[in-house]
Amino acid sequence: MTDTLRDTLARPLGSLRLSVTDRCNLRCRYCMPEDEYVWLPRTAILTFEEIERLVAVFAGQGVRKVRLTGGEPLLRHDLPTLVDMIARNPRVDDLAMTTNGLLLAKQAAALRQAGLERVTVSLDTLRPERMLAFAKSARHGDVLAGIAAARRAGFTSLKLNSVVIRGFNNDELADLIEFARAHDAEVRFIEYMDVGGATRWSRDQVVSQREMLEVLGQRYGVIEPVHAIGDDERAPAERFRLPDGTTFGIIASVTAPFCRTCDRSRVTADGTWFLCLYAGRGVDLREPLRRGADDAELATLIRETWQGRTDRGAEERLGIADRGALYRIDSLRADPHREMHTRGG
Ligand code: SAM
Repeated sequence: MTDTLRDTLARPLGSLRLSVTDRCNLRCRYCMPEDEYVWLPRTAILTFEEIERLVAVFAGQGVRKVRLTGGEPLLRHDLPTLVDMIARNPRVDDLAMTTNGLLLAKQAAALRQAGLERVTVSLDTLRPERMLAFAKSARHGDVLAGIAAARRAGFTSLKLNSVVIRGFNNDELADLIEFARAHDAEVRFIEYMDVGGATRWSRDQVVSQREMLEVLGQRYGVIEPVHAIGDDERAPAERFRLPDGTTFGIIASVTAPFCRTCDRSRVTADGTWFLCLYAGRGVDLREPLRRGADDAELATLIRETWQGRTDRGAEERLGIADRGALYRIDSLRADPHREMHTRGG
């Protein structure tokens, strides 16, 4: 007998992604391609104390992994203080962050000291001119400096996330693997997803896991899958090994979704809890939090909601014949919670 909290598909509540801000200092074409955005009201943004309390209640219900994300998490003022507050929770045994790296060089040491254990840096291209065209930023050098600073600060098992898009960076797969190897990191190629915000998504721009493996196989020879054990079995990335032992991952959320083992959920910066990246609606946790609900009430809400979870968003998208962008821009403006940058990638 186990009292692990499970949803309708027996998936545990294990991993919580906390978006600490909906703001971002990049405008990646696959996430924030528009000129203007509707932001969450400032007064709705959870304070560090509110986030700390929510994490404690979630941890009481089984969450062991917490990942800070956004928007760009390093835009949240004084993030090391929040890291310190969460790291003190003895139930949280894995505290990580996903960042675009622009502001990492300055903050890496403080974050590490505060108790952040792992960092993933998004790096889609090694060519500054491509980043300028694709993410409207001339700060490629800052990202590289951030990666170097993270290593100096003692972050081991550094991961690099690369969203692979046909016609943009699909000719850089080997270069990114080589870069990661040279920087003691592991790259994870992500299939371009039709999440909210990806208003220019189309099927033909997706480079599938299969195609990536074919291209890399031609370059490197036989590529072996790395068999997942323990916690890794729930990880979204499938890992592979090149003949020389170098490993990399692929997150095939479009062609081979991992819904069946998905133990993740997301809390937005204003305290809305989403059980799936594709979910149409979230659960308002800010209202009970600010009304003065006690921990037991919050725990019951979380427990009952998770027990009723049926979401398999990415798998359901597989069945759509004329698959296009998930939301049009007017629908995103009507509710910014539908945006990937609000929900936290
Ligand atoms: N700003 C941080 C960053 O860039 O890593 C954290 C937030 S960002 C939304 C988190 C991750 O989501 C990034 O690795 C980004 O590449 C990924 N992402 C955003 N839009 C995506 C899309 N349409 N398909 C696949 N991955 C996407």
